[in-house]
Amino acid sequence: MSQPPECDYRKPQRLSFTDDEARFPWLAILLNAYAVIDKGISAAIESEQKQGRQLACAKGCSSCCTTHQDIPVYPLELMGMSWYVIEKLQSPLREQLKQQLNNIDKLNTCPFLLEGACSIHPMRPIACRQFNVLNKACADGEDAFHTRKNDVMKPIKRFTEEAFDIMLPFYGIKRKGDRKKAIKQGKLHAVAKVMRECNWQTMPEKMTAFESKIIK
Ligand code: SF4
Ligand code: SF4
Repeated sequence: MSQPPECDYRKPQRLSFTDDEARFPWLAILLNAYAVIDKGISAAIESEQKQGRQLACAKGCSSCCTTHQDIPVYPLELMGMSWYVIEKLQSPLREQLKQQLNNIDKLNTCPFLLEGACSIHPMRPIACRQFNVLNKACADGEDAFHTRKNDVMKPIKRFTEEAFDIMLPFYGIKRKGDRKKAIKQGKLHAVAKVMRECNWQTMPEKMTAFESKIIK
């Protein structure tokens, strides 16, 4: 199981899992959509920099993963997260995450936050990808959305819409005109779930079942 590289917003790149994408056509759709979202974030950062505002988010900074209780995730994203955790996550994160998910009731952070970093970073959902703060890092327990909304970077709409347009055929909305209408009406939001409320308790068992399959 090889670990993909971390996304560098300055040089966003579409992640590639050739064999897995051949097995799971939905994965290619999701990765294409994430590539567009990441490109959009890169463009937004560049535009902020031109106005003298710097990105404060960095690896190891994770107050947002604790304060944000209602992060939305779309079904396709849930599939990507589950696939990544079951089939791709490596030791020692793998064992640590299993343990954490076995004790999920005691958690008050995102289930995937391990030692101050996102354990599923390449497959984190759009909401996480697009929540970025400028000027200074959030203090412990601070939700910049409430304390200094002007420092929360606004995603560029056309990239978000392009990513939704890529994903909509997966949800049965295939014709271009219908996709345009669905985006305008925000139809995709209706299928979003709250990440923390999803049934992550079953993941450790699925991870173990996958491990025994590849060892055979
Ligand atoms: S949103 Fe705030 S807490 Fe999260 S990575 Fe950015 S600066 Fe850090
Ligand atoms: S998925 Fe990752 S980035 Fe998003 S809240 Fe959880 S730990 Fe943070």
